[in-house]
Amino acid sequence: MGPTVHLVLTREWARECGFSGEDAEVIAQSDLAFDASFPARASLANITRHFAPGAWAWSRHYYRRAVRCRDLTMLGYALHCAQDAVAHGTLGENHVLANLGLRREPDSWDVAPPGIRQRIERVSRERLLRYRAGRE
Ligand SMILES: [Zn+2]
Repeated sequence: MGPTVHLVLTREWARECGFSGEDAEVIAQSDLAFDASFPARASLANITRHFAPGAWAWSRHYYRRAVRCRDLTMLGYALHCAQDAVAHGTLGENHVLANLGLRREPDSWDVAPPGIRQRIERVSRERLLRYRAGRE
């Protein structure tokens, strides 16, 4: 997913979940920066951060660190991995199908089906609210 989800919508959802404008900005900027910090093409370990099933485990890992250290950058990372896990599908099957012209572009919010959009929003809001409540 691109900046529409990782930056713009994440910032909006964070505000709606009760974060201050400043905190929402930190969360959204770290969510967006994750692709540059851990580019999928750089290593196998990085690939697992952007595709299910590994991305779910990374999301949990970053989320726990976020709660334990009250670290909003880690929360942004946790959101990024969960958002990618939904959008990209298992082991990048959506990218392979897209490259063959058989499937929509998996990183485009605009052409994502409503069910995918809803799941991305749900996994994002769920983590934001859980963090606000201080729960692991
Ligand atoms: Zn990514």
